[in-house]
Amino acid sequence: MTARLEKFGYEKFFADGFAAARLDDSVPARIVIRHKTEYTVITEAGDFRAAIAGKLRFQTEKVAHLPAVGDWVVFRPNAGESSGTILAVLPRKSTFSRRVAGQEEAEQVVAANIDTVFLVSSLDQNFSLRRVERYLVLAARSGSLPVIVLNKADLCASLEETLIEVQRIAGGVPIHITNAKRNEGVQDLLRYLGPGISGAVLGPSGVGKSTIINRLLGHEKLKTQDVRDYDGKGVHTTSHRELVMLPTGGLLIDTPGMRELQLWEGEDGVEETFDDIEQIATKCRFRNCRHQGEPGCAVQQALDDGRLDGARLRNYQKLLGEIAYQSRQYDSHAREEYKRKVKKITSAQKRGYKKP
Ligand code: GDP
Ligand code: ZN
Repeated sequence: MTARLEKFGYEKFFADGFAAARLDDSVPARIVIRHKTEYTVITEAGDFRAAIAGKLRFQTEKVAHLPAVGDWVVFRPNAGESSGTILAVLPRKSTFSRRVAGQEEAEQVVAANIDTVFLVSSLDQNFSLRRVERYLVLAARSGSLPVIVLNKADLCASLEETLIEVQRIAGGVPIHITNAKRNEGVQDLLRYLGPGISGAVLGPSGVGKSTIINRLLGHEKLKTQDVRDYDGKGVHTTSHRELVMLPTGGLLIDTPGMRELQLWEGEDGVEETFDDIEQIATKCRFRNCRHQGEPGCAVQQALDDGRLDGARLRNYQKLLGEIAYQSRQYDSHAREEYKRKVKKITSAQKRGYKKP
C-alpha cells in the first residue's frame, strides 16, 4: 500500500531506490520539515519525528549526503511510537544546494526532488534579463524543470517588448506573466503542480515569492500548516511545514535554505554579463544565428577584428548550452511521467478546475 506516499510524489524511481536500500523493519518516508537536529517525515502510516541514525551521520563524509527537505529516505519507526530513525537517503531526482564555508568548502542540499521550479522576477525597474539567465542555469544544474514567472506586471510599461526579450533567452521554457498582488495569472501556475508534483519558488528578495506562494496555497493554507501525527497525540509542531500539499494535490517546498539561495549570485562564477555579445549579435544576418560559422555572422566578424575575446564567447555559448539543455529535458524520456501528470492537471483545468 502506497496510496498516501503517492500523494506525496512517491513513484517508481523512488520505489526502486527503496527496494535496493531497504533494511529490516524499514519503510519509505519523505522529509517534510527539517528541525534543528530532527526531521518530520511522512510515511504510509502517518507522520513521525525522525532522527538521523548515528551510522548514517558518521558514514556520511559529505554534507550533501545528509537528508534535506523533499528527500525520500529509508525510515525505521520505533515500535509503538511516533518517532524513528532515518537509515539512508534514497537517490535524488534533483537537488538545490548551496556552498557552506567550513574547514573546506562543502555543498549543502537545501531541498531535494523538486520537479518544477518557478523562477520569479519582478517587472519593475530592477528587472534584469541577465538574472533570468542565471536562474535558468541554476535550474538546469538542479535537475528540475523551470517555469519563468514575470511578476508585478502592473509595474511594467513595456510588457510586450520585455516578453519578447525573455522569450529570446528562454529556449522554450514556459513564461508566465503575473500580478500576484491582484491574484492575476498566478492560478495558471497550478498546471505545473499536478497531484504528486513537487514545486518550489525561487528568486531574489522582494519579487513577490511569498505573495505567489500564499496565492497558490489559497484558503487551504491554515489546514496545510496544521501538522498532526497520525495517532493525534504526541508530536505536534507549530513550526511552518516546509513541504505542503496544495488544494490541487501538488506539493510546494519552501525552506529557509531555498529562500537564501537568492544569494547564489556572485558565488557561482556565471555572474558575468554578456550584453556586449548580444548587442553585436543583433547585427547577425540570421536572427537565430548560433555564431558557429553561419554566413553574415557579426559575432564572427567581431572575433576576427579582435573586438571580441574568444574565451568570452565560449563562456557565453556554454551558458546558452546549459539553458538549451534544460529545455530539451522537457522532451526526454525521464520526464514522461512528469508530462503525463502535467497533462492530467491541465485537462482537469480545462474541464473547469475550480479556482480558489
Ligand atoms: P518575496 O521577498 O519575494 O517573498 O516578496 P513578497 O511576496 O514579500 O513581496 C514583496 C512586495 O511586493 C510586497 O509588498 C508585495 O505586496 C508586493 N507585490 C507582490 N506581487 C506584486 C505585484 O504583482 N505587483 C505589485 N505592484 N506588487 C507586488
Ligand atoms: Zn552570429
